[in-house]
Amino acid sequence: MTQKLEIYKTTQKINNQVVRLSSPVEILEGIGSKKADALYRLGISTLEDLFYFLPRRYEDRRVISKINVISCGNFYSIIAKVLDTRIRPGRTEALLSDDTGKVIASWFSEKIIKIIRKGMTLAICGAVDNNFLTPRFTHPEFEILSNDSQVPSIIGKIFPVYHANSDMPQKSLRRLISSIVKKYADKCLIEFLPEKILSHYGMMTLSEAVKNIHMPSDSHDYIRARNRLAFDELFLLQSGIIMRRQKFSGHNINSQSITAGKNYNEFLQKLPFKLTSSQELAINEILNDLAQNTPMNRLLQGDVGSGKTLVAFAAMLACVDSGYQAALMAPTEILAWQHYEKLRKSLEPLGLKAALLVGSLKTSERNQILSGLADGSINIIVGTHSIFAEKVNFSNLALVIVDEQHRFGVVQRNNLISKGLSPHVLAMTATPIPRTLIMSIYGDLEVSSLHELPPGRKRINTISFAPVQYKRVLQIIHEAISRGEQIYWVCPLIDENEEKDLSSVTVIYERLKNLLPDINIAMLHGKLSPDIKSRVMQDFSDGKINLLVATVVIEVGVDVPNAAIIIIQDAGQFGLAQLHQLRGRVGRGSAQSTCILLEGKNITPEGKARITAMINISDGFKLSEQDLIQRGPGEFCGTRQHGVTDFHAADLIKDEKILLLARDEARNLMRQDINLDSEPSLRHEIFRRLGRVLELAVTS
Ligand code: ADP
Ligand code: MG
Repeated sequence: MTQKLEIYKTTQKINNQVVRLSSPVEILEGIGSKKADALYRLGISTLEDLFYFLPRRYEDRRVISKINVISCGNFYSIIAKVLDTRIRPGRTEALLSDDTGKVIASWFSEKIIKIIRKGMTLAICGAVDNNFLTPRFTHPEFEILSNDSQVPSIIGKIFPVYHANSDMPQKSLRRLISSIVKKYADKCLIEFLPEKILSHYGMMTLSEAVKNIHMPSDSHDYIRARNRLAFDELFLLQSGIIMRRQKFSGHNINSQSITAGKNYNEFLQKLPFKLTSSQELAINEILNDLAQNTPMNRLLQGDVGSGKTLVAFAAMLACVDSGYQAALMAPTEILAWQHYEKLRKSLEPLGLKAALLVGSLKTSERNQILSGLADGSINIIVGTHSIFAEKVNFSNLALVIVDEQHRFGVVQRNNLISKGLSPHVLAMTATPIPRTLIMSIYGDLEVSSLHELPPGRKRINTISFAPVQYKRVLQIIHEAISRGEQIYWVCPLIDENEEKDLSSVTVIYERLKNLLPDINIAMLHGKLSPDIKSRVMQDFSDGKINLLVATVVIEVGVDVPNAAIIIIQDAGQFGLAQLHQLRGRVGRGSAQSTCILLEGKNITPEGKARITAMINISDGFKLSEQDLIQRGPGEFCGTRQHGVTDFHAADLIKDEKILLLARDEARNLMRQDINLDSEPSLRHEIFRRLGRVLELAVTS
């Protein structure tokens, strides 16, 4: 009676409501509140979530094997008779045979013995373990067949394997997803890709793709389904990015056209070294962009120490040559200060003026700079994000360079544009971002790369020491100092933190001063006053300090070529990108440099893995791919991009080809029809999926 009522209620629900992608799973046929709860715990709350809850792998059970072909370590489907069953502690074992041989199946449950009996015929699917003498299925899926001619339901097809849990075990989840997909995919999934793209690539329709990704009949169908869904995600994102740029930039924004002249030439002539060929190429690419009236949007990517600063300076001088102002933005005051100091030395002989604008300036200094920027007497401004604080007005800003771009996030450019500025923008990063990720996030951003380090650099020798090897470290310091080299010692904290048991700058500084009384040691961290910070940095640059104990304030950009050793305390605490950046503080001169990673007392397995990666990999690009794999794209890019790259099907590392196609198709389509008026379903889908994360919704 209750059951009938339940069925009646369910049909009622269905009849009264239109099922949409956004419908909660509990209104779907066959899903009661208990199942809905279980699905919810798997992260599935709507019909769409369920459609896009993709299998994490597949099991090919199309072939039924004979027992005599079974070899250990592989996956098999068999049909066999139960010869015997027995209980082992916590397990049930069955001895099975067909007409070719015998095999054991073992389940992690004693209850199974009540279900499986001698004489039954079973279909069995699973991996055959190789830890035993007799081949053995460990916890296989099984189905009891009532007679020899019954066609088993768990064999004969390719089966999806999902992330299941104990509330919703694999078999039930598979059954549920397949029935929902069969029932609703055709009705609820509306095709949004333009007909032209579908036919040009011979793509599956959306509902075909969703059906095939859950229930592929062969690997060819699976690949087509997956590629279609990956294309969707990348194509929608690329289109959304183009829309976003349009929204923030308006239709016809113009930038100043810039041509290099006298200052640029003199600056390059005075360099004490030759440009590397990638620096030359990058500068040319940039000058090309700068000559246009459309704003440059370029990323300069190059490993730590590859010489990006020089490229930036050259571009800024070209800008000044054409009579415009340039701005260079750095993520830390120390880096801004360093850029400013270097730039000042190059600009003064040319009769040009640079200024440093950071948050910690006195009001009078600040006001002076503000008026210099407004009246155009300052040619180049260097600073932290305070450059683009509300009160700063420029006389004629034409170029903005963002150093260590990954520290700022994407939205920065939009800030500029919203202030009515449309300068050329060059972003620089020393944490190389895989191209696929750059394109997913920035769309058609152009990229220049510095592939090589300046000549004469040696690979930085990276080693790790356990906490007990302190003496050895001190010895290395002594040897380095006797060779005239300088040393960084980096600690994770400023002050001691008992809870975390990590080392602090203040404690290590005091300790080292006692242990190394004849060595000139200084300390640098964010809480020191700006005056002291710049004095310490100046003294270290001038070689007056042998050993600098610092926090990660020196992580990015700092350039003292005579520093040849960096010691990183509690190295397991730091992320891979950060470790690579820190290591990049050395190896900037011709001396053989060393990076010493000190394992902290409580190092985690992940921390250890990062240290191993650092020892084995010196190429920043490879490390950043490792990082992407270990952390996933969301975290990799910081919180701002959260949601943008939460793909179900697309894989940023493997899908570069599809990404390029998606980008080209999006560009082609939107070149003629930027608002997608001719493709309303596509437009709708972009807003539905990405409106919020790309901040598109406001003006639509
Ligand atoms: P990054 O790319 O990490 O910002 P920098 O711009 O700080 O690297 O450059 C690292 C060091 O290499 C600096 O000391 C710089 O003066 C030097 N350098 C840059 N270009 C060259 C070159 N072509 N030849 C020799 N040294 C160079
Ligand atoms: Mg730099």
